Amino acid sequence: MYCPLCKAEYRQGFTTCSDCQIALVATQQEVDAVAVDRLWTGDNRKKMEKILDGLMDAEIPFRSKETPKSQPWPWLSMLLFRFMKPRPTFEFHIDVMNKDSAKSKEVLRKIEDAEKVDEEED
Ligand SMILES: [Zn+2]
Repeated sequence: MYCPLCKAEYRQGFTTCSDCQIALVATQQEVDAVAVDRLWTGDNRKKMEKILDGLMDAEIPFRSKETPKSQPWPWLSMLLFRFMKPRPTFEFHIDVMNKDSAKSKEVLRKIEDAEKVDEEED
């Protein structure tokens, strides 16, 4: 069994990907038939969480990943420090299945529009 989104392989008996919460498919060919698109890349954890919330609300399965950044921005580290334990600076990636791409871009656009309004109010 394989996850069509994160491409992880599962033993027989599993039906759902524990990371993506979506139904597994039986064969490698079915997995290969599912294209995965990069929806968003950035280093703003708060924005990433907003996008993930939006995707969850829209019931769009996604895969998110964080990778350590080699050149942390000091101001961002300070910002993160306010919300959570000190940790290295990360870059975030959000991937969605190609069939959800248009829908998820719509979610992203709404979030970015809302952010613009926030900025104008400041
Ligand atoms: Zn998965």
